[in-house]
Amino acid sequence: MEIRYLEKNKTYTNPQRIRPTYIVVHSTAVGMTSRTTLFNAWNSQAAKVSCHAMVDDEGWMLTLPVDFKGWHVGGKGNGISIGFEICEPKSIVYADQWHSRVNTALYNPARPSIRNDFVKRWRQAVDCAAYLCKQTGIAPDHVLCHSEMNAIGKATNHADVAHWFDLFGQAYNMDAFRAAVQRVMKNGAGAARDGKTMGNAVGRRAGNRADVIR
Ligand SMILES: [Zn+2]
Repeated sequence: MEIRYLEKNKTYTNPQRIRPTYIVVHSTAVGMTSRTTLFNAWNSQAAKVSCHAMVDDEGWMLTLPVDFKGWHVGGKGNGISIGFEICEPKSIVYADQWHSRVNTALYNPARPSIRNDFVKRWRQAVDCAAYLCKQTGIAPDHVLCHSEMNAIGKATNHADVAHWFDLFGQAYNMDAFRAAVQRVMKNGAGAARDGKTMGNAVGRRAGNRADVIR
């Protein structure tokens, strides 16, 4: 973990303070070279987006203080939540122009290289979410992905991260993610493995816009 704030982004230079009650998990819905690539794209006065942390396969960094309002989930949701972005790998290929459906012939979740890369990102994301839970006092059952936030009426209609996580089966869906966050908070970073779910699924439906392509 490192701290590297989006010092040029308007959500950093002109902050609005919030008291978040949700943590939103996003993924970029487009392949990114690294979290630094994403950081450079969003560390700009012109950027109309921001988030509180950025994750890739090798690590993650805090990009906004957790009591600053970010622009990640649209509308009123930004006032009640913080959010982080997981960089999807360069190898991801989409089947539709809105980047809500992955082409699994070209990005095949059964291929070991694809799966191993995904698991690295998923584990870094668990570690990041556990840190954010501890910093904010938000419980893991209030860690929702963007599409789940939409399903409860608190976000724009995006597909992330269910459109990606769910390709890898129940061991890596959002329920498994919340369970893993809870384990890491209890046992430390090594506990970010897949496994049992907490069983408090929130309904989800596919959205139709990517986070980076807007
Ligand atoms: Zn999103």
